[in-house]
Amino acid sequence: MSAKTSNPNTGGDGASGEKHVYAFGKQTDGNTKMRNLLGGKGANLAEMAAIGLPVPPGFTITTEVCKLFYKNDRQFPAGLNAQVEAAVKQIEEQEKRTFGDPKNPLLFSVRSGARESMPGMMDTILNLGLNDETVEGLAKLSDNPRFAYDCYRRFIQMYGDVVMGVQPRDESDHEPFEAVMDELKKELGVEEDSNLTPDNLKELIRRYQELIKERTGSTFPQDVYEQLWGAVSAVFSSWQNERAIVYRQKYNIPSEWGTAVNIQTMVFGNMGEDSATGVAFTRDPANGEKVFYGEYLINAQGEDVVAGVRTPKPIAELEKEMPKAFHELEAVRAKLEDHFRDMQDFEFTVENKKLYMLQTRNGKRTGLAAVRIAVEMEKEGLMSAETGVTKIPAESIDSLLVPVFDPAAMKSANVIGHGLPAGPGAASGHIAFTASAAEREARKGNKVVLCRVETSPEDLKGMLLSEGILTSRGGVSSHAALVARQLGKVCICGASDIKIDYAKRTLKAGNVILQEGDFISIDGTTGEIFEGRIKTTDSDVKRVLDGQMDGKNSYTYELFNTVMGWADKYRRLAIRTNADTPDMARNAVVLGAQGIGLCRTEHMFFEGDRIGYMRQMILASSEDERREALAKLLPFQREDFAGLFTAMEGRPVTIRLLDPPLHEFLPHDDTTRRELAERLGVSQETINERVRSLHEENPMLGHRGCRLGVTYPEITEMQARAIFEAAAQVGGVKPEVMIPLVGFKAELADQVAIVHKVAKEVMKEKGVEFDYQVGTMIEIPRAALVAEQIAEDAEFFSFGTNDLTQTTLGLSRDDMGSFFDSYRDKEIFTQNPFASLDQEGVGSLVKLAVEKGRSTRKDIKLGICGEHGGDPSSINFFHNVGLDYVSCSPPRVPVARLAAAQAAIKAKK
Ligand code: ADP
Ligand code: MG
Ligand code: MG
Repeated sequence: MSAKTSNPNTGGDGASGEKHVYAFGKQTDGNTKMRNLLGGKGANLAEMAAIGLPVPPGFTITTEVCKLFYKNDRQFPAGLNAQVEAAVKQIEEQEKRTFGDPKNPLLFSVRSGARESMPGMMDTILNLGLNDETVEGLAKLSDNPRFAYDCYRRFIQMYGDVVMGVQPRDESDHEPFEAVMDELKKELGVEEDSNLTPDNLKELIRRYQELIKERTGSTFPQDVYEQLWGAVSAVFSSWQNERAIVYRQKYNIPSEWGTAVNIQTMVFGNMGEDSATGVAFTRDPANGEKVFYGEYLINAQGEDVVAGVRTPKPIAELEKEMPKAFHELEAVRAKLEDHFRDMQDFEFTVENKKLYMLQTRNGKRTGLAAVRIAVEMEKEGLMSAETGVTKIPAESIDSLLVPVFDPAAMKSANVIGHGLPAGPGAASGHIAFTASAAEREARKGNKVVLCRVETSPEDLKGMLLSEGILTSRGGVSSHAALVARQLGKVCICGASDIKIDYAKRTLKAGNVILQEGDFISIDGTTGEIFEGRIKTTDSDVKRVLDGQMDGKNSYTYELFNTVMGWADKYRRLAIRTNADTPDMARNAVVLGAQGIGLCRTEHMFFEGDRIGYMRQMILASSEDERREALAKLLPFQREDFAGLFTAMEGRPVTIRLLDPPLHEFLPHDDTTRRELAERLGVSQETINERVRSLHEENPMLGHRGCRLGVTYPEITEMQARAIFEAAAQVGGVKPEVMIPLVGFKAELADQVAIVHKVAKEVMKEKGVEFDYQVGTMIEIPRAALVAEQIAEDAEFFSFGTNDLTQTTLGLSRDDMGSFFDSYRDKEIFTQNPFASLDQEGVGSLVKLAVEKGRSTRKDIKLGICGEHGGDPSSINFFHNVGLDYVSCSPPRVPVARLAAAQAAIKAKK
């Protein structure tokens, strides 16, 4: 490989010309657009520095270095050392302090920062650069020995934990440094940390160092550069820790991205009563309201706010305590929104009354907040409608439609406490006090509300499985609130009027005592906690859509309607729904469905008398007998289709002919078989014999789909007749008849001929003309491979991506449970291929079939009706391959509308 000296940003594996380090501060190399290289935190620190906000100077080691680190067996690339030392020198000059100088030490924080923020997933190290000598310098400089020793003992604790691995040995073990501290406090008869004298802290530091020696056999490093490299390497390594991996899987973050490391001059929120540290949001991240939102702690450092050790104060109180810093912060709030044009979540520290900004990012928000912020920022001129659409995760529109507690049931509900409303919605469930109890209960199929004093990243799995989360401690930036915002969980946090006792497994509120397993209900919109189970009912939006409420009386509906209006303006894909009954159809139309993409006729054969005739048809020993039974089924089918056509009011309806293997309709228990035998006037042995003969080793690949119609043309005839007679009866409809499981041109041609013949007959009999189409599902690979032949007889294709996934991957959806988890853990499947389309594999077949289909029939109509029709990333794919519509289940219709708009906007860019 030739050296590229002209462009230091490119090059091979750690070629020394490559730029590994980007400064921010007086000189700033990066900006917000460089998040792939600098991580979100690093890119935005650079951006803030560049627009003149007060950011302590520092530098970012790129994500590329992280990749090289893993590629080279956890070694740093050549050239990094020199660049880091140069960056440190630059800061030393700027700050007039020196890293490792015993008299005037410069201290750093070492922070991780991936491309997407992964809050709390990786560890931060503060006060790096302190050692037995520099701590004395800090004590003199600050004229505050207590502060200096406290910083040092915190540093040893963080470093010992994160870099040297001094951690609890198992779940019941205490945090070892805390244990040492508690022991010392007991010896000294001291209650509060703040009552430890400088000499006490010195003793604590000695014992901490001893603990490290004991546990690891190594001494705590006194060399500041050794400290720095140890910390950088620990941040890179944390990319592969368990918490980070779980998080990445949940959010589909590729493990190749890696993390950047930010090294930043320390500022101190713990220098005394004129210092503070906090986090804030430019708007309320729970409901989206435009209010300054956040919390802070006086005389505290770093993660004290998030850790929930002390209860932080609401940001509004800072106005009284530190008016100057508060007003500066208000100005920063406006400047951030104006510059980033989105709601920001930021971290700040006040050191001796001076404000510093430590981080900003687009704030995570609940679904409701996402919608409200987009709509209101568009009104305020901060973002366009087009940007607004892209800022709302498509899934989150759902949260405006989720059920709320039934107002009637609320009248008799007993409120037992209040907390901070951190995740809107209503949740009722069994109380679980630990994540593992929540998991156990949820696996039994029960609804759970996880109730904890506070949550930590270890609880993530249990939180995912719970309906709602309730904590008694911690504020708006606590872990629970953060997770609720991201996962869209109903959440109340910091409910200090309830007491949770893990040992007794009880939750106490006033004089109400609830046990683990008892029912509890929480309203994450209002913050109210109730005893027992409360009935839920439709949301305002749903009631307006159903005509039970005037839209003018619901702001939530206004938000919903605005966003859906935007979505419809930008999307190209039509949205249809999979519906088999008039009720389902009407429900979907109200949510915006423009047609039915899949009506499964088999569901129509189970109700009432029908199943009897159906069984008679299946068990018939001659064609005549079969026709007799089919004739009885015809009127039922016709009425069903007429109902569906009426409900759809002229919108297109695609009806799939009978698809499942026939044995699915037969009785499997003795009693029902006996009854059936009597009814049909045959012996039970005849029934048993017929059931046996229909048995298939592999029904998914057996006698089903169009294969039924090929062997029993009279079934196709009857269904076609029912469809067309209903069309003639209702009028103004254009049915689309869909032949399932086609692989060969000839089998489709066979079925299409029957459909056309019946259409002609019905038109003649009824004396009416109607428009109709015949098409096919593309759901086995052969159909996609010969789609140009299939298209000769098909006026439309609808991709049946459920079966197409099963047949392409050779993977049965119903049997993958036993190995799916291993595949996911090993990242062989990054997601469930039945939930989100395998775009490389199955997607290639879809693409091929689209091209081949259009080459034969230019105006062939193309759609998709598998589960994937409601999945945003699959919808994006379907937009890009040029389908005409996606069809999904009725409740997914709003999500699909929004996702389709996002796909169109993204494709334009
Ligand atoms: P996370 O990604 O978990 O938010 P951060 O890198 O933001 O981790 O660090 C956690 C906390 O450490 C910050 O919220 C901040 O309070 C504190 N911190 C980080 N860097 C500095 C610094 N240079 N000076 C003072 N405090 C800092
Ligand atoms: Mg962290
Ligand atoms: Mg942070």
